[in-house]
Amino acid sequence: MNPRRYWEDLSLLLMKRPLQVPAGIPFMMEADSTEVDLEALRCELSDHRVTVSQRGSNDVPAAGMLSVILEGVHGLAGLMGGPDRFATRLQGVDIRLCRTRYGGYGQAHGIALNRDGFEAWTVVHELAHAWDGVNGWKLSARMRDSMGAGRCKWWYGIAHLLRPADERYWYYPGKSPPPCGIDANFNAKEDFAEAVTASVYPEEAARRAAARGWPYADPVRGYSCASFAGTPRAAFVRELLSAG
Ligand SMILES: [Zn+2]
Repeated sequence: MNPRRYWEDLSLLLMKRPLQVPAGIPFMMEADSTEVDLEALRCELSDHRVTVSQRGSNDVPAAGMLSVILEGVHGLAGLMGGPDRFATRLQGVDIRLCRTRYGGYGQAHGIALNRDGFEAWTVVHELAHAWDGVNGWKLSARMRDSMGAGRCKWWYGIAHLLRPADERYWYYPGKSPPPCGIDANFNAKEDFAEAVTASVYPEEAARRAAARGWPYADPVRGYSCASFAGTPRAAFVRELLSAG
């Protein structure tokens, strides 16, 4: 057992934090379901082996929500090379819309989104977790090792648990820029999900990174990337996808 990974997972569990707490402002597209062919949206999602259900309600998910979900699915499928490759890689995903104070949650074959509002960015982020999850979370572990990222010492996971606000014990992103900066919740799984999402939305990722004080070009940190596409993380995602 890798003690670093063990403590990362344990600290997440004990902190009862979801895998992702997006800081962005949620939005929901306004749409009149009478004008939108709900069945067409569902068929389009079905082509990607994606289903959508709404927990705790018999209501049919609004067309606006399905449209945002489809926007995210299209984004990731485009990165992967089309619906078939998306479906092969994710092996089927059920999207649950539920009330949660978090933006979303993702694991193998299932993601949850906040029915009160979410962005296509969040859809892609949670789908990236589903892709990682269906591969036993080995994709994020490979990226962590490839980037030289992680806890600097194995016991940092314990220290982070005890002092979560102390930046010295946060996840170290390695010698290349993280997709959108780091915070106390950052870890290998979030790093991978953000890298995939940034590959779909590179300009938005750059904006988020800069806003959090982690631009891709930063002489102090030794970063000199003009865009996310030029970062080692983007190269990792490209190589992962080109491998099959
Ligand atoms: Zn996440």
